[in-house]
Amino acid sequence: MTSERKNLAGLSRGELAAEVVSMGEKPFRSKQLWHWIYHQGETEFDRMTTLAKSLRMALTENYVVKRPLVSNMQTSEDRTRKWLVEFDDNQQAETVFIPEDDRGAVCISSQVGCTLTCTFCRTGTQKLVRNLTAAEIVGQFMLARDSYNEWPTPNDGGRLISNIVMMGMGEPLLNYENVAKALTIIMDSEGIALSKRRITLSTSGIVPVMQRCGEELGVNLAVSLHAVRNDLRDILVPINRKYPISELLDACRAYPGANNARRITFEYVMLRGVNDSDADARELVRLLQGVPAKFNLIPFNAWEGAPYKCSSNTRMGQFAEILNNGGFSAPIRVPRGRDILAACGQLKSASIRKQR
Ligand code: SAH
Ligand code: SF4
Repeated sequence: MTSERKNLAGLSRGELAAEVVSMGEKPFRSKQLWHWIYHQGETEFDRMTTLAKSLRMALTENYVVKRPLVSNMQTSEDRTRKWLVEFDDNQQAETVFIPEDDRGAVCISSQVGCTLTCTFCRTGTQKLVRNLTAAEIVGQFMLARDSYNEWPTPNDGGRLISNIVMMGMGEPLLNYENVAKALTIIMDSEGIALSKRRITLSTSGIVPVMQRCGEELGVNLAVSLHAVRNDLRDILVPINRKYPISELLDACRAYPGANNARRITFEYVMLRGVNDSDADARELVRLLQGVPAKFNLIPFNAWEGAPYKCSSNTRMGQFAEILNNGGFSAPIRVPRGRDILAACGQLKSASIRKQR
């Protein structure tokens, strides 16, 4: 029964209004409904008390407001939480929450698996790939809020879930339409109302979509650079063969809204003996002159069968110092949730094997 009823979560404002009108209601009712779904986080129509009883009954008959199914939840010793999320077709993806003291970011997946095959990334080894729908993307955020009981506003007024990073499984700019629709819902001022300044989208460098992302969404951009030379980046991030470093950096220079107060984050995974020399660091400083940039040095997170090792702490420290001396902020990221394989690049779902 349930599966035949249409899910209202993940519809755009216009689509929701169309559903309401199709039920013979005035379009403004959809505003109230939107508020219940995205501000209150309500999933039961019967508790949407500002709607007439008859409408609530009709909604219950024809629709649902639902989240993807959580088929497993793990919490790390450092409090990082990971959900294995299952969709209607039984395919799975992972969502992670990384708490800080008084804030935290949900790391959302944009695809089941990833079509790209970066050699240091565990997601890239997964065979099965499909795009997630807007409902499945928004749904990950909503289930995180469910999990921490943060609808509509916690009693003390503060929320632990304060930011979103599109850094889970998949390449968000290869699923741009659905990602854009989901983020537009999340940023809507009458619903979840998360500011674009609290959202960061990470891309491996899908150059032709970057401009649109900046213009239409205006979210913070993070770019997975990882190498200073094309011959090496061609191996580490194979999409580089299509969009080489110079084109990528041109797109970064042109990214709407990027300036010295709002810099682009360049992610750089630290691979021992591969991309971590002093010469690499100096070349990074040179390459990024004139780009409003900051770095995020990511210690390589190991996974079974991975062909790399993480650089030593001393090496990472020296590498960071060269970037700092060159005028760039370059914190070394503290890995989170490694014990539950929730850290950067460790996500993978065994959709086929786990299927019941
Ligand atoms: N597909 C997007 C976003 C997801 S990955 C992208 O590639 O940007 C988020 C970040 O983690 C990227 O910078 C990615 O390169 C990095 N990453 C992947 N595997 C990693 C690993 N094993 N250790 C550390 N960082 C990794
Ligand atoms: Fe895909 Fe990003 Fe992993 Fe590369 S690093 S395989 S783009 S998820």
